[in-house]
Amino acid sequence: QNMHGMTSEEIVDLTRRLNYGTWRFQKSWNPVHIADAEDCYIIDGAGKRYLDFSSQLMCVNLGHKNPVVVESIAQQARELPYAMPGYATATRAELSKLLLEVLPEGINKFFFTTSGTEANEAAFKIARMYTGKSKIIARYRSYHGSTSGSIAATGDPRRWAMEPGGKGPGVVFGPEVNCYRCPMKHTYPQCGVACADYIEHMIRNESDVAAVLLEPIVGTNGVLVPPDEYFPKLRKICDENGVLMIADEVMTGWGRTGKWFAVEHWGVTPDILVTAKGITSAYVPLGLCATSEKIGDFFLDHYFAHGHTYEAHPMTLAPAVATIHEMQRLNLVDRAAELAPYVESKLRALKEKHRSIGEVRGKGLFWAVDLVKNRETKEPFNTYTDKVSGAPLLVDQIAGKMFADGVAIQAWVSHFVIAPPLIVTKEELDRGIDALDKHLSLADEKCV
Ligand code: PLP
Repeated sequence: QNMHGMTSEEIVDLTRRLNYGTWRFQKSWNPVHIADAEDCYIIDGAGKRYLDFSSQLMCVNLGHKNPVVVESIAQQARELPYAMPGYATATRAELSKLLLEVLPEGINKFFFTTSGTEANEAAFKIARMYTGKSKIIARYRSYHGSTSGSIAATGDPRRWAMEPGGKGPGVVFGPEVNCYRCPMKHTYPQCGVACADYIEHMIRNESDVAAVLLEPIVGTNGVLVPPDEYFPKLRKICDENGVLMIADEVMTGWGRTGKWFAVEHWGVTPDILVTAKGITSAYVPLGLCATSEKIGDFFLDHYFAHGHTYEAHPMTLAPAVATIHEMQRLNLVDRAAELAPYVESKLRALKEKHRSIGEVRGKGLFWAVDLVKNRETKEPFNTYTDKVSGAPLLVDQIAGKMFADGVAIQAWVSHFVIAPPLIVTKEELDRGIDALDKHLSLADEKCV
């Protein structure tokens, strides 16, 4: 029994009967009751601890139940739980000033939302209002959120459920940057990063393009790190063609890749930076659409036609202030960068050992282990079509075995995402990777 007066069985039963499980068939949903969490661990109703090897949905960057962040929420509730967004609050002023310290220089006007998808919706509207143009160029193998605009701009198959009726107007898809499985069948570096050039070809042939929307490192779809030339080249293309660059840093922000924001790896400043998740370490729902001064200035004498009841909600902003202070105090961005070579060497050794691993790739504490049936053909074990047909996925079977061993990992179609809280220790990294090592034989024996 817990403070809610229910057993784990009752909690799971009520959850299944009265709630929707996301991105899945409902019948097979059998959620584990999570009762507590602490640092790099989640704890089930029976008290069993699981290493949180993907920070839940790649969002609990500080680790669970950081006392400073928890206290900031309680303190804000006592001080001022809510004021409508038209008023000025000390919490918004403090956070906005602090954001100037951590965001790329020149990004200095903020609109707060309560999710990543809403922050993207704001970005699209701002880009369209500012440029007076309508089209957004997004890329295949991307995810930008589940609401109408963001899902329409999502290149991965999660968009399909919305089509044909739900497809938003004004989104066109270009090639993803994916050197392991290049959609143009090119080889880097001989290709000269033609995938960026093709975006320019699209801009010129589409006309009416407001913005190019990109995850700096593609997240859910496999931690796809672009070659170093890609972002500087694309920045130049956007500038030369009068098109805005929107960086979706919902997953890659907040130290995850060893920089505060992933665009910093390539010294590129987007016109609009969208983020969420790690901004509060996910303790409360907060998203941010941050723009350049030039865009901010435009709205001085143009109507800003956007808003939410919960925009800049004080309860969501206070923990962001605390999160930034804690990240600075614990030096977590550098820590993610420093641990990267250790993770990389461990994962490269894992690849040597297991023929089912096609590629390992990543940056900072953000890595993918990509499983293939055959290294020559790079054929994955499963596809998204298997997922939506309800077929059991091999990665889910392996993740299930790891969970039984006390390691929680995110699996997606045919790869794993390793993204532990940035406070993770080397011993915890060893433990998570060892658990994967132990169960990869399930995949190795299915290789052809
Ligand atoms: N953009 C990216 C890159 C994401 O990874 C996600 C969520 O995983 C989103 C947007 C949507 O964020 P949210 O789930 O908070 O709406």
